[in-house]
Amino acid sequence: MIVSNTIMKKLGIPVLVGIPFDGQSSYLRGAGDAPSKIREALRCDASNSWSELGVDTGMSGVYEDSGDLAFHETAGSGTSGQEENPRQVFTAIEKGISALLEQGKRPVSLGGDHSITYPIVKAFARRYPELTIFHFDAHPDLYDEFEGSRLSHACPFARIMEAGLAKRLVQVGIRTINRHQREQAQRYGVEVFEMKRLPAYEKLNAAGPAYISFDMDVLDPAFAPGVSHREPGGMSVREAIAHVEAIKGEIVGADIVEYNPVRDVDGMSATVAAKILKEILGKMIAK
Ligand code: MN
Ligand code: MN
Repeated sequence: MIVSNTIMKKLGIPVLVGIPFDGQSSYLRGAGDAPSKIREALRCDASNSWSELGVDTGMSGVYEDSGDLAFHETAGSGTSGQEENPRQVFTAIEKGISALLEQGKRPVSLGGDHSITYPIVKAFARRYPELTIFHFDAHPDLYDEFEGSRLSHACPFARIMEAGLAKRLVQVGIRTINRHQREQAQRYGVEVFEMKRLPAYEKLNAAGPAYISFDMDVLDPAFAPGVSHREPGGMSVREAIAHVEAIKGEIVGADIVEYNPVRDVDGMSATVAAKILKEILGKMIAK
């Protein structure tokens, strides 16, 4: 067991928080039901609680779980069919994450569609103005607007970069970039490492605080079909874990988004999401 108490004290305890919101998903709903499924897979007795870095994530006190964020009465569970007001939901997300940060914890959010990363990072930016974001995704999510929404799950990193909420944005696994998003990447100085150029282990190096945003569709649909936007030609689970392990910097928070149970096959992608979560937690806990 190689938990470093110094690091845990300095950086705070990781805390899971579910964000059951899929109201800004452009193609399919369903990701709002992901948090409970990922937790269930994480605690499933089919596997043990040790991460590959040699950390027992099942030991009491190495991370906490604060449950799911509750939104106002307009936002039921993710697939309730009610139309949530995204601004209200985003305000609630920002407040919820801020509260955990103020307690000195390191929030690990379970989405939810990828739109939630914008309000999450808003909260992080106040505490960590020099944040480096490592963004795993098939998609750059840099659209200025998408289908009439600037808060769409296709836009969070445009909002983050235009507001100056991150010092660096490093994207890995991208394989759908178009002209508009290439221009956006240039405009905001985004470091894009396309899938075809991987591995990019040595590029995942942050001088200060680092945040991981992990969109499940960075994985090849052969490994994780349970996503709304299946994009062939992606990472294996092994490649994803190797890139997570390669990250250098102080990981102050993370999110895992876009797992969509409606599209899953026998819960296999939930198991993959839980594995990625276990490795990220292990990385945050270990020295
Ligand atoms: Mn995404
Ligand atoms: Mn994606």
